[in-house]
Amino acid sequence: MDPDEAGPGAPVSLEQLWAGWRRAYVEAASAAERTGTDDGCVFCRIAASGPPDAGNGVVWRGELVYAVLNAYPYANGHLLVTPERHLGDLDELTPAESGALWQATTAAVRAITTAYGPDGVNMGANLGRAAGAGIPAHLHLHVVPRWSGDTNFMTSVAGVRVMPESLTASWERLHAAWPRG
Ligand SMILES: [Zn+2]
Repeated sequence: MDPDEAGPGAPVSLEQLWAGWRRAYVEAASAAERTGTDDGCVFCRIAASGPPDAGNGVVWRGELVYAVLNAYPYANGHLLVTPERHLGDLDELTPAESGALWQATTAAVRAITTAYGPDGVNMGANLGRAAGAGIPAHLHLHVVPRWSGDTNFMTSVAGVRVMPESLTASWERLHAAWPRG
């Protein structure tokens, strides 16, 4: 059953809701990529968007990598950690970038844990469109808080995807919780 086709009152499973978000994410990415240049890359645009603030969604920025809220989150607090440079393969990372990416991912897990106190965290990357990457040309790691059952954090109404927290609220929580020093 497609969640968008669920009738009023029909139960929609979490799996179906997540599939819907993933589709929206991929569709948005494909639209952004249509120009076929770095100018069409949302991660490059965010990389050039200045210091962290709720407007650009950047929670933390280092010299080589940054962490940004996923505009199409699978769960509240869903972060993406990505290099500043436009590259798609792990092999293209310099040792410094690779180290910075891992350090920032570690910090992202800590920030999510501090801000949300989840039961668990998913982190990882989809390499290539066949693996589910919405934007395969610009490497990024997902860090997603998870709860047992996940239903106490997201509310579903048939055909409507409801998330109780705005991206601005997520940004404020994670920016405050990001480990310093
Ligand atoms: Zn890019």
